[in-house]
Amino acid sequence: MMKKTATIAIHNGLNEDTQFGCVVPPIYLSSTYNFLEFNQPRAHDYSRRGNPTRDMVQKALAELEGGVGAVVTSSGMSAIHLICTVFLKPGDVIVAPHDCYGGSYRLFNSQQERGAYRVIFVDQNDDIALKQALAHQPKIVFIETPSNPLLRITDIQKISELAHQQGALVVADNTFMSPVLQKPLALGADIVVHSCTKYLNGHSDIVAGVVICQCQKQLEELSWWANNIGVTSGAFDSYLLLRGIRTLVPRIRLQQENAQALVAFLQAQPLVEKMYYPALENHVGHQIAKKQQQGFGAMLSFELKGGLDVIKLFLSQLTLFTLAESLGGVETLICHPATMTHAGMSEEAKKTAGISPSLLRISVGIEDSQDLINDLQSAFDAATKR
Ligand SMILES: *Cc1c(COP(=O)(O)O)cnc(C)c1O
Repeated sequence: MMKKTATIAIHNGLNEDTQFGCVVPPIYLSSTYNFLEFNQPRAHDYSRRGNPTRDMVQKALAELEGGVGAVVTSSGMSAIHLICTVFLKPGDVIVAPHDCYGGSYRLFNSQQERGAYRVIFVDQNDDIALKQALAHQPKIVFIETPSNPLLRITDIQKISELAHQQGALVVADNTFMSPVLQKPLALGADIVVHSCTKYLNGHSDIVAGVVICQCQKQLEELSWWANNIGVTSGAFDSYLLLRGIRTLVPRIRLQQENAQALVAFLQAQPLVEKMYYPALENHVGHQIAKKQQQGFGAMLSFELKGGLDVIKLFLSQLTLFTLAESLGGVETLICHPATMTHAGMSEEAKKTAGISPSLLRISVGIEDSQDLINDLQSAFDAATKR
């Protein structure tokens, strides 16, 4: 019988040690492996190509997403770059969301500049624009949902069907949801990619990525190229990721619960202008999120009234919300996208993407929600008194 996500997350690699009966697997740090005899390699010969610790976490991630296998890489960006390297040749087209993760935007653009492939950025919720983009016969359609920082939702099933009609491969960046809340392969995507740096590891102490696919031939190609270009993850990071994944389900549940409490509080604040959270019925993607997600996640954004001075004062008063980029860890982070994560975008591009200077984004952690609310309350009090 198929095991459920919470069980898979816990049981990866447990009780596999035959030498000492370790419940938790050891870390295999060795870079190289001896040959049994002349011309007789073992399962592993060199850790860039294969490492037992990385094998374990790859197996866990493949199982969690429902794929045939996975390649764990040095970062989310190297995972995305790996996919593009394997499946795109000069002249080939990738269709990507106009509001995709900044690093992906920069990668696709800079690779286009040097002639590696062509990219068409499009609002994937604009049916006409999407159709025009698909008419260019893309090799890859790249989906990222929910988007960052406004949490726009894209219909994975619908886009996958349209993309497949054109013979394109569908790649979904599932970083914001994790396999606990969304399973793109089951919705029609061919390949899932994650920044494991975020929810999957969950403790903000490694940078890693993963590619998970449904087709054995594609998996072999991806693994071969990952070794060839040397982007596989090291043993220690693989181990921390394996460890982080064990608590993925309860972390996400708590983070989501806290997010809901914060949204309810923030919505009642006179200084809050606009809330972005897919559980809200007035959120543009609410219906699709309800259909394709198993929950609404723990990322939220809102606009604060009063201009930059109020934002600065508000942020300076917070003690439990760390002003930092990244997301998905157990600690709550707050970010000002216009000057931080999205600072690389032109003013024009920010405007088109809807990233206003009054926008704040929160990655909700697992602290006590009342403490978080009290902290916000003090910051609002200070900002109101000003
Ligand atoms: C962080 C992130 C990435 C890049 O991952 P790194 O691990 O930082 O290289 C890609 N996509 C999304 C949605 C992200 O949040």
